[in-house]
Amino acid sequence: MKQEEENKKDIRQLTLAEIKDFFLSIGEKPFRAQQVYEWLWKKSAKDFDQMTNLSLRTRELMKEKFAINHIRVDDMQRSTDGTIKNAVKLHDGLVVESVLIPTEKRITACISSQVGCSLNCHFCATAQLKRMRNLNADEIYDQVVAIKEEGELYFNRPLTNIVYMGMGEPLLNYKEVLKSIEKITSPTGLGMSPKRITVSTVGIPKMIRQLADDEVKFNLAVSLHSAIDETRSKVMPINEKSDLKELADSLQYWHQKTQRKVTFEYVVWKDINDDEQHARALAKYCGKVASKVNLIEYNPIDDGLFQQADPTSLDMYERILNEKGIIVNVRRSRGKDIDAACGQLANKS
Ligand code: SAH
Repeated sequence: MKQEEENKKDIRQLTLAEIKDFFLSIGEKPFRAQQVYEWLWKKSAKDFDQMTNLSLRTRELMKEKFAINHIRVDDMQRSTDGTIKNAVKLHDGLVVESVLIPTEKRITACISSQVGCSLNCHFCATAQLKRMRNLNADEIYDQVVAIKEEGELYFNRPLTNIVYMGMGEPLLNYKEVLKSIEKITSPTGLGMSPKRITVSTVGIPKMIRQLADDEVKFNLAVSLHSAIDETRSKVMPINEKSDLKELADSLQYWHQKTQRKVTFEYVVWKDINDDEQHARALAKYCGKVASKVNLIEYNPIDDGLFQQADPTSLDMYERILNEKGIIVNVRRSRGKDIDAACGQLANKS
């Protein structure tokens, strides 16, 4: 991109009122701002020339002053199971990945919130990329639009769900993540229901309390992986900063405020957490926090340190959780052959 383009402000950083002010300043009618806003968000225009209901002169004036820093899908890979992985190029050349997951009933977009990640969970491929920067709200929004368009093109079906489970830790990019959800759910954006959106976090108690105070309407998932501090700290260094007790307190607060359950994401690994003691600890933890559990399959990241547990251990987990009346789903992985499954996003290609 030319230097001059780079220095222009992205028009999508402006509010509707600010676009109106701009139009007044160039002697245009303020209602034109509404049209531009619709092009930018509802219609996801990538170029001012697409805005054909505006005069050529107005479009030129906008181009002089502003840019539209739309993401670009640089590379798209398709898995044998239908999963699609996009390598998404940002305006400054950095790359993140997002994934379309098709199932019988759903088209789910799994999107990134940061370039890389700072949390260093030992089993996650993204941890091997250091955190470069946060994504802004429109870079997050654009990933959703790209997946939505691919769902329509390749499956002839609408986007039904969004999970913030790609690269990065959404709650360490709080403001922009919330802004992106505001746009996704707004009638001036994609108009999706927040009930169809899930934000997944390693569990940062202070930010979970913030979500509760902000009365957000989307779903919350926490990557738990162990309800025993010693084990959890070994695989997720964040647990040394805030332990399971602190996490449980914040989740109780979340439940009090929102009346919604949290979903625990949980991988069972051979010789790490595949014994009965760990399963019972999880059941006990779920007894304290209104929750349900997704047991997710481990996706190897070629370091040989972690191995998927035997199916009998998963059965044991299911049995123990069921006995306590806890809802548990076993989630099969998708898109493994293209490194698009949970924890495999690492810009390999
Ligand atoms: N930072 C957030 C968002 C990333 S979500 C979070 O941790 O929740 C990615 C999910 O995939 C998390 O639940 C994570 O624990 C899980 N995960 C990471 N590496 C994995 C792997 N190799 N196999 C299976 N799941 C993995």
